[in-house]
Amino acid sequence: MWTVLRRQIFYATLVALLGGLIGWPFNASGWGMGLALALWLVRQLYHLAMLRAWVDNPKRVELPETSGVWGEVYERLLDLQRRNRKRKKRLADLLSQFQASAEALPYGAVVLEERGEIVWYNTAARALLGLRGQADLGQRLPNLLRHPAFTDYFARGDFKDEVEIPSPVNTEATLALQMVLYGDNQRLLLVRDVSELRRLERIRRDFVANASHELRTPLTVLRGYLEMMQPEARSGKPLAEWRVPLNEMHAQATRMEALIKALLKLARLEADASQSRQDILDVPALLERILSEIRVLSRGKHRFVVQIESGLFLFGHEVEAESIFTNLMTNAVQYTPGGGTITIQWRWNGEGACFSVNDTGIGIAPENIPRLTERFYRVDEGRSSASGGTGLGLSIVKHALERFEGRLEIHSRPDEGSRFICHFPPHRVQRQEPVAA
Ligand code: ADP
Repeated sequence: MWTVLRRQIFYATLVALLGGLIGWPFNASGWGMGLALALWLVRQLYHLAMLRAWVDNPKRVELPETSGVWGEVYERLLDLQRRNRKRKKRLADLLSQFQASAEALPYGAVVLEERGEIVWYNTAARALLGLRGQADLGQRLPNLLRHPAFTDYFARGDFKDEVEIPSPVNTEATLALQMVLYGDNQRLLLVRDVSELRRLERIRRDFVANASHELRTPLTVLRGYLEMMQPEARSGKPLAEWRVPLNEMHAQATRMEALIKALLKLARLEADASQSRQDILDVPALLERILSEIRVLSRGKHRFVVQIESGLFLFGHEVEAESIFTNLMTNAVQYTPGGGTITIQWRWNGEGACFSVNDTGIGIAPENIPRLTERFYRVDEGRSSASGGTGLGLSIVKHALERFEGRLEIHSRPDEGSRFICHFPPHRVQRQEPVAA
């Protein structure tokens, strides 16, 4: 800054001296100096005015070409302007590239403000959600998508999972929505059409349910005949030599029936995904009833330790709760050699209700644990078949627990035993205070 000032003072002095020199032959050096300085000042004011006009409207006003300090100022300003334009263009290119790639996404994408106001969306989102061009920009998305599942999802603020809702444009279609948080409380909503996926799942489920249903009748007939033939074979009549094959056929037919029953149960659990059954279940009474059946199954070979908290009830469907408890307790009996201990607990743990089955049985290797709830997954095919297992028990437990919004936890060590814990969320539990005597 000081160099510029020094230069300006130098120029002003030079101009004044020149004016004085020109006026000197006419004996008017003072006038000459004053006039020259006044002209110099007019030039400065002119450039100042030009600069002001340019700053106000850089597109219309062109900066004059000149030398000296003003020339340098203009050149720097124009250079700055050029660089700004380049940066702006680069940003605009980047933005249009981003928009083009977001447009090319097979998913709908909606950029939202913290409260859900729509900032931007791509063409897929417009088609999937039925948004209307510019008119919906700035609108709150929860006001446009009024399905309770989405309203709940948005209000809860927990966006780990997707939420599925019927499409607002086509009632036949199903949309999966997933919110992603980024930046300074910005939100990106990704929308997928999962109708085809759900349709295929429904076809598979219906096929399994129908096939199982169709197989049940012929199998009952077969088993009926086998049961009629067994006593004849035992009594030494012409069927005597068929005694062993008949027994084996009967055992296999019974096993197939169990399989079909389990498949039908699974299909029913999957088909009705709603979790709205709100009957109150007297779990302690239900557990006592199942326990008496399990003791029969154990045939006195196991020691049972039972800790059941009275007055601890569940909201839900009895058949589903029964499936959970029965399958876990049956497994404990089947996979615990005689002399082992089976501990059954039903209690409130401060965060919800918890049903657990502990056994001192054969246990499960760690690598098998994550796959246990898969359909037909058996750790040891031979052992499971020998126990009459279908490989569907834990799969049923998992699905039935989902209907209670619950979660299954499994701990096990080979040759030491297993612990299966079912966690039920507090809003599915009712606790009754013990009545004072
Ligand atoms: P299955 O009808 O074969 O018992 P499940 O789905 O109930 O089918 O169980 C899957 C597999 O998990 C079983 O084949 C068995 O190997 C293992 N398993 C389940 N419960 C236990 C347990 N309490 N102890 C040891 N292994 C178990």
